Amino acid sequence: MKKVLVLEDEKSIRDFVVLNLSRAGYDIVEADTGERALELFDATPDIDIAVLDVMLPGIDGFEVCKSIRASNQKVGIIMLTAKVQETDKVTGLMNGADDYVAKPFSPLELIVRVDSLYRRVQMMKGEKDAPKTSDELEYGPFVLNTKSRRLTKNGRKVELTQVEYQLIKLFMEHTGSAFSREEIFKNVWGDSFSGDKHKIVDVNVRRLRLKIEDDASVPEYIQTVWGFGYRWGNE
Ligand code: CA
Repeated sequence: MKKVLVLEDEKSIRDFVVLNLSRAGYDIVEADTGERALELFDATPDIDIAVLDVMLPGIDGFEVCKSIRASNQKVGIIMLTAKVQETDKVTGLMNGADDYVAKPFSPLELIVRVDSLYRRVQMMKGEKDAPKTSDELEYGPFVLNTKSRRLTKNGRKVELTQVEYQLIKLFMEHTGSAFSREEIFKNVWGDSFSGDKHKIVDVNVRRLRLKIEDDASVPEYIQTVWGFGYRWGNE
């Protein structure tokens, strides 16, 4: 189980972080003060990642970071900062943080950073369940080679446009994570494109489903998350 400690005193932000990391497959331990976070950290030996807010009513996030790091070198630590300022970065690095996410952040930004740090932590631990470092993403009958940009299903090549490749890569890199249409759009097309973003995403998902699903009218791999967006995975 991928376990994350979330320390944030503002309930609305904490709930947002917890919701999105849970959706991405993480098991969450939550704390609203630095003191509580340290207690929970000591009581929960299998925490992989700590997401720490900096500004807190009692001891601040940097103190928490320092204490955690003093007892544990392997855990990944991400600081949530109001604004990433150079002084914050230096203070954080001196206290042993691995990465930063500046507020306000989107669910995708958060998940991408946590996933990437989680992979680094697993690689450092050398655990056998660490994701492969090769260029291939695998899921069910699919193998996506991110170097040659080729997709196969049960060993047979599936022809993809560049957009379809970007879409399936986003999904396969984040199995089980729900992405909103806005997040998908931003990731695949960037910020520069204008037009009906939801429609563009829907049209391309429909086309991709026709190519990869056994029955595109009953999709098994690209799931619709009603009123939100899409999620990859049939579990
Ligand atoms: Ca705060």
